[in-house]
Amino acid sequence: MVDLQGQYDAIKDDINISFEEILQTSAFINGPEVQGFQRNLENYLGVKHVIPCANGTDALQIAMMGLNLKPGDEVITADFTFAATVEVIALLQLTPVLVDVDPDTFNISAEAIRKAITPKTKAIVPVHLFGQPADMDEIMKIAREHNLYVIEDNAQAIGGNFHSKSGEIQKTGTLGDIGATSFFPSKNLGCYGDGGAVFTNNDALAHSIRGIVNHGMYERYHHDVVGVNSRLDSLQAAVLNAKLPKLDEYNTARRTAATKYDKAFVEIPQVVTPYRNGKEDTHVYHQYTLKIKGGERDALAKYLQEKGIPFGVYYPIPLHKQKAYVDDRYNEADFPVTNQLVQEVLSLPMHTELDDEQINFIATSIKDFFKNKVF
Ligand SMILES: *Cc1c(COP(=O)(O)O)cnc(C)c1O
Repeated sequence: MVDLQGQYDAIKDDINISFEEILQTSAFINGPEVQGFQRNLENYLGVKHVIPCANGTDALQIAMMGLNLKPGDEVITADFTFAATVEVIALLQLTPVLVDVDPDTFNISAEAIRKAITPKTKAIVPVHLFGQPADMDEIMKIAREHNLYVIEDNAQAIGGNFHSKSGEIQKTGTLGDIGATSFFPSKNLGCYGDGGAVFTNNDALAHSIRGIVNHGMYERYHHDVVGVNSRLDSLQAAVLNAKLPKLDEYNTARRTAATKYDKAFVEIPQVVTPYRNGKEDTHVYHQYTLKIKGGERDALAKYLQEKGIPFGVYYPIPLHKQKAYVDDRYNEADFPVTNQLVQEVLSLPMHTELDDEQINFIATSIKDFFKNKVF
């Protein structure tokens, strides 16, 4: 699904020099590489504050702690996503409110958000799933109308641009009150272990969060709030400093591969390629996810497995049906899209090193599968 070797080969010298320096100076925690990365990412995203942390799940948790959300507050998020988003809501004893998604973009449905709002609602967490921005125009409008916070889960979408209806172009993750991201190795900007960050344009919030990630300390050994220990280490920051200047190039390589896949599948009626909004710099294809119609997803998956072609099913179970998150509050009739998507989605290999030969082999194999079927 993912090949990280090519990226490493290209930045090996940079990384080795930085690692050597960190090892020589023992600046393992909060060293110059971390400070530098913070500034570099602020510049890249066009955001006032980046606060690095240990991983993307922590980033989401820290964001919610920074907004001072309290047990019982309701937080609306998507039913069709990775569990980290709902996990931290539940961990903080906030009340997760899972809602259905859009069948084209797979992202949280603005209409479903509106229906789910109650007097206890405090925040919305859109996830820019698979690298495609959620409908931030509508989500920000709803948030303003109901005085809600917006925390963007940007773990799969770093580097993507959101085009607002008014014509503004902004990086995903910088539109809401806080953006949270992950630098897990296979993410579009990945380090060589765990890493994450939050971003915000709000000075007070940034100050609050800088203390929260460091045991609630704003002054050494004065613990003003309950915090956590969540740090990006210097070695990971060095990897990210080497990779960040190449992020646009990486995302372009993903888009090029996605376009080739799209073209190959155009004549197969059972294969629906990822939604495109007509703006080339929007989707960063963290995943290239097809919808397989006609009830053929599992048969195709089995065929790909036999052929030795990697694939993924992200995600096979709606969050509202996961044992940890089932709740009487949910009604099956409210999740028609997620319930269908979990049976249709199939993600193909997607990374910066995909070559034409690999794409052709994968596409031809899938075409053969459908050619041999009688419908
Ligand atoms: C990867 C991911 C996370 C969690 O990031 P970690 O660094 O693995 O903790 C959260 N949300 C989404 C949508 C993700 O894809």
